[in-house]
Amino acid sequence: MSIRAILDNTNIYSYDYDNEAWQALKNSHKDLKLIMPCCDSHAVPKTSKLNNYFFAHSKQGECTSAPETPEHLYLKTLIAKIALSEGWQVITEKQGKTSSGETWIADVFCTRGNAKLVFEVQWSTQTNDEFIRRSKKYKESGIRCAWIYRLRGNKEYFKHDFSFGKDVPVFGIRQNKETKSLSVPQFGVSIEEFILGMFKGRLKWLPSEGDQLTAKVRPESIRCWKCKKQTKIIKEVLFYKNDVFISARSFSDRNIRELILQNIKNSKLAKFGIGSIKKRYSKTVGSAYLSNGCYYCDSLMGNFFLMKNEGKLLNPIAEFDFICDQQLIKFDGDWFFGQERSKSFF
Ligand SMILES: [Zn+2]
Ligand SMILES: [Zn+2]
Repeated sequence: MSIRAILDNTNIYSYDYDNEAWQALKNSHKDLKLIMPCCDSHAVPKTSKLNNYFFAHSKQGECTSAPETPEHLYLKTLIAKIALSEGWQVITEKQGKTSSGETWIADVFCTRGNAKLVFEVQWSTQTNDEFIRRSKKYKESGIRCAWIYRLRGNKEYFKHDFSFGKDVPVFGIRQNKETKSLSVPQFGVSIEEFILGMFKGRLKWLPSEGDQLTAKVRPESIRCWKCKKQTKIIKEVLFYKNDVFISARSFSDRNIRELILQNIKNSKLAKFGIGSIKKRYSKTVGSAYLSNGCYYCDSLMGNFFLMKNEGKLLNPIAEFDFICDQQLIKFDGDWFFGQERSKSFF
């Protein structure tokens, strides 16, 4: 089953036909040289129960292409039409090869300039190994791919139930039992909005190595254990990519203190009534370490205070940009749609 067929050596697409033209093609196809894109079988124009037009083999013969559900045809048609409306070139059921000669057939193959993007609709169950294996073929062919994968019934999913990484992007879709409409519960949007958003560059894996990130330094107001005055210390750093919030890290996390010190002078912290960040000796630990201190008496305000969460969180006092370096600060990347991070459970 296909939404593309070849008529006199030219690709034709079922979604380009209106009702009248489709009826005419149905009536005349036997006299035409209309063939399937997957093999040399004659192509028969048909209409699915979801009212999408498609081509079927007149005889399946040797062809190994799998039959498709009406929903699969519907999604291929939808993706192709949105891609075209966004100025991409589209070939559905496109056959290709990796550099090492492995073949693939992409549901919807989209190009614009040098950008190549494949959509795969997966209506039946597929193992993670298979997602990985098939995604790798596209990667080796210099093509980005995205999977649209049907979620089963009312089952609740954890995002790592299926491949979720940057290289194997699988996005679940769920069908509403009554309306039959399809949505992407990870981001709480309709399938139409999701696909359109992908072409508009709203779907991003963040952060990637080398991205310019913004760090916002956030203090808290806390009582000094020694002089009993209300002082301020650095509580955490919030990380953003443009306006998208990525994650927060505690002051005591690996390399966070060093990052702050490299970018903000203690004299600047002092202007906000925040104690210096410097090495102070801790009797408890038995050595000196980079720490917060009291603005008034410079006593060590150790990591213990950060964990107690007794202070009052304040708004960020300073921000700086830096380049994402996973050796320095490790981020678990995630998919974002616009400002929205993928839900973990859906
Ligand atoms: Zn075929
Ligand atoms: Zn003090």
